[in-house]
Amino acid sequence: MLLLDYDGTLAPFGEKRDRAFPYAGMVERLERLISSTSTRTVIITGRAINHIKPLLKLKKLPEIWGSHGWEHLSREGHYTLKAISPAFREQLEKARSFMVSQGWQEYLEEKPASMAVHFRGVDTDLALAIKIKILSHWRQMAVRYPLLISIFDGGLELRLPGINKGNVVREILKSESDKVVTAYLGDDSTDEDAFQALPSDALGILVRSEWRPTAASAWIQTPEELLDFFDRWLSAEESHD
Ligand SMILES: [Mg+2]
Repeated sequence: MLLLDYDGTLAPFGEKRDRAFPYAGMVERLERLISSTSTRTVIITGRAINHIKPLLKLKKLPEIWGSHGWEHLSREGHYTLKAISPAFREQLEKARSFMVSQGWQEYLEEKPASMAVHFRGVDTDLALAIKIKILSHWRQMAVRYPLLISIFDGGLELRLPGINKGNVVREILKSESDKVVTAYLGDDSTDEDAFQALPSDALGILVRSEWRPTAASAWIQTPEELLDFFDRWLSAEESHD
């Protein structure tokens, strides 16, 4: 079982989020893995499923968990969204209105169960000034309502607590035999929940140009070592079949 984050893992972290396509050589390898009968390939991303689909450029989509696990698309194409309370929707609307009132719509990404603000390609000082104001607004909101504020590479996100990539990993593992060989590949702080949810015999791999403290047990650099990892997985599969 191959559990894969998308941004920063399968795709480089570019300035334009809507053009964050997979690394060269990645699509071919993913196609082979997805059509394989011995590997269950799953993409687990903070992106909304609708936003990630066109970036993948795949003939056949794998199973995808989007919006940090609030959305699910099965391999057969069946889509589900977990129930989100009207009270939380109201909080998201409040946060959105604040962004609009400041004229910051261009940084905004609205998702089914969260709101993200992105600063890829934005001047560092400007991004910092905006970040401070947004965080102070969100923290005021979070005093009255349970909200999760997460800071990731290049942005901020206001989320509903309760579901994260760790829950997704646990749910997936429950549906498989405990003998299945499992690897999770991710780069960012939200992937740490997933690394921590892995059983001791699974392989958590930090995919990143620079090492940082992590719950993952291995570290590889993109893109060469990542492509090599997929090639070795595919050849191990062939010799196993
Ligand atoms: Mg990532």
